[in-house]
Amino acid sequence: MHLIITGGAGFIGSNFIRFILKKYPNYRLTNIDNLTYAGNLDNLKDVASNRKYHFFKADICDEKKIDKLIKGADCLINFAAQTHVDRSIVSSTEFIRTNIVGTHVLLSLAKKYRIRRFVQISTDEVYGSLKKGHASEDFRLYTSSPYSASKASADLIALSFFKTFNLPVIITRSSNNFGPYQFPEKIMPLFITNIIEGKNVPVYGNGKNIRDWIFVEDNCQAIDLVLHKGKCGEIYNISSGYSIDNLSLAKLILRHMNASLKLIRFVKDRPGHDYRYAINCAKVRRLGFRIRANFLERLRETINWYIENRNWWGPLKKS
Ligand code: NAD
Repeated sequence: MHLIITGGAGFIGSNFIRFILKKYPNYRLTNIDNLTYAGNLDNLKDVASNRKYHFFKADICDEKKIDKLIKGADCLINFAAQTHVDRSIVSSTEFIRTNIVGTHVLLSLAKKYRIRRFVQISTDEVYGSLKKGHASEDFRLYTSSPYSASKASADLIALSFFKTFNLPVIITRSSNNFGPYQFPEKIMPLFITNIIEGKNVPVYGNGKNIRDWIFVEDNCQAIDLVLHKGKCGEIYNISSGYSIDNLSLAKLILRHMNASLKLIRFVKDRPGHDYRYAINCAKVRRLGFRIRANFLERLRETINWYIENRNWWGPLKKS
């Protein structure tokens, strides 16, 4: 089996590569990433010399380059994206280019080479803000930020390739991931690393925005299940079912790190900030998906990882 992983030098992609190499030592993995600010080969130092793993620096929008790399592969999993909502508000151009145009380039080449599975990694943000209840996979798309709109657009184009060309596409929509190797601009590593540095913990607005969380390795497990057992043309929501508002999350992390709640600073809210995301994950559970440990255990594990790996995130925060 030859898997193409795009965006494998980022947070979830690098965890997925490590997960697959361990679980399927005979699989061949090709990681294609153009190493944006969020892509970091240090995330994969421990597997860099594995004979089954190869890295190529390339932009997913560069059709000529990607054509040569994809030819002959069995499956493709597209993690490559611009991913930070705040950056999409400052400038959305790169989000449209990578997340929509780049995904279209990959789909077109996957069609050309008759790829056996194309897994598009998407997000629960495409359902927009929910006052109550949980979004199932057929819930309406109601995006708020240029980021979520670009992801929803890519989902629709991917599904059109299934319906029109029979390309074996599957989409996963996961909730907020957390764990090792997450770029320290994202809420969980930002809070943890700021506390380690003795800095304030910035909470948007009144901190009442609610998110569902999933440990990154659990998401990798679910993506693996979907890749091997999922049905083409389908969408799978992925979450642990643990939800918490941002202020309570800040307090929880501060308490776990024995730091003062006085470090919390309320800052001006993000424009268009969605109040609540919540997804129904019955479908992926029917494939056999179960989380392996509860949120608090994983939170402790994650805090310890950032405490022990300051040499990984320190330079990223300065850049
Ligand atoms: P990340 O920002 O950590 O990594 C993205 C990777 O894509 C980086 O390595 C970057 O260099 C690469 N990349 C960006 N543009 C590229 C391009 N034009 N060509 C090639 N490579 C490019 O992101 P992440 O958190 O690991 O997210 C991975 C995927 O999962 C994304 O598609 C994201 O939308 C989705 N997702 C993330 C979360 C989350 O909580 N992190 C939740 C739901 C869905």
